[in-house]
Amino acid sequence: MARSAREPALVFHNGTAVLPEKLLPDAVVICEGGRIKRVGHLRTLPRDATLVDAKGGYITPGFVDIHVHGGDGADFMDGTADAVRTACRAHARHGTTTIFPTTTTGSPEQLCAMLQACLEVQRSRNPADGARIAGVHFYGPYFAPDKVGCHSQAGRRDPDAREYRRHFATGIIRIATCAAELPGAEKFYREARKRGCLITCGHSNATWLEMARAFRAGMRHVDHFWCAMSSVASLRQRYGTPMQASMEQFVLAHEAMSTEVIADGCHLSPELLDFAYRQLGPHRLCLVTDANRALDMPPGRYRFGCVADGEWIESDGRVGFVPGGGALASSVVGLDAMVRNMKAMTSASLPEVIRMASLTPAERARIAGEVGSLVPGKRADVLVLNQRLRLKQVFLGGVESSSATD
Ligand SMILES: [Zn+2]
Ligand SMILES: [Zn+2]
Repeated sequence: MARSAREPALVFHNGTAVLPEKLLPDAVVICEGGRIKRVGHLRTLPRDATLVDAKGGYITPGFVDIHVHGGDGADFMDGTADAVRTACRAHARHGTTTIFPTTTTGSPEQLCAMLQACLEVQRSRNPADGARIAGVHFYGPYFAPDKVGCHSQAGRRDPDAREYRRHFATGIIRIATCAAELPGAEKFYREARKRGCLITCGHSNATWLEMARAFRAGMRHVDHFWCAMSSVASLRQRYGTPMQASMEQFVLAHEAMSTEVIADGCHLSPELLDFAYRQLGPHRLCLVTDANRALDMPPGRYRFGCVADGEWIESDGRVGFVPGGGALASSVVGLDAMVRNMKAMTSASLPEVIRMASLTPAERARIAGEVGSLVPGKRADVLVLNQRLRLKQVFLGGVESSSATD
């Protein structure tokens, strides 16, 4: 092939590369053909390359969000390709380059529409579509009746094999949630395990014993730690004394279990965020946005879940909450903000914080061979952050995204 026909290399320079184990100052990251080719030091920059000057800031891998409902006015449960694209673009502006659109509770038809819309956008792969869909997180509707949270109670049900087999058959589900105590939960977990999913327990009031059974069926993750999950106190209401160990103790006690935190500063206090980091470490803790459609939208009332009949929630611009009651209803900020909070509020180092927003979720969702760190061969999903960790530029497969929300 003629040399002039080749796409010029993309070269990030004048910044500190954030690697999973360390910072690499004065680094050069070379990308070619949409892939990372080299990470290291260079005395002279290659000629004919497209240069990206990090201006003394940080060069990091793009973020991976495994739990996210929407943004910029759209919820994935709206069930249209337009809504999916709107939400994926919104999260790309916050540094998320790989996304797992997440279902809420809803009717079987609403879930089918959501899965089909995500498949359509995933197939018509276009860098202008924003964060790339690596799979769907099948989250609602199999929640415990007493832990539905801000999701629609009418859309909740126990696992139904006829229903979920149809959803799994689409092939797009890569993460699968079910409350461990529900009848049929283990069967659901086994089906998800056959499909190679990350299996998670969420919106659940499960005991240690129920978690142990779920673990044997393949469950390895718990959704949004401390939110809509069992505690010693909640189980005392269910079983009296002797008091029982809960999901919290089960996760902390099992090396093979991971979990995630919503680090928006509204859901969890700094000491809880730091406790999660210190107890679990950066290999078992993921940062997720759990963002709803109010991300990048003015304060006001919004539907959580499908626009047709989702529950009403309110956003004050900092967090979502249930009108009147005060209970929280998912976040309204991006992973860039979560990364800044985690760095400011906990003792985690910058490489560890970035790992929790990229490589760790990629490993748990089994896509770490493709994305999650600045390693030759992986997709050129690269971010430029300034020294205060403000997002400056976003590259998806080596193509610059039109804008980054600072
Ligand atoms: Zn939830
Ligand atoms: Zn959620």
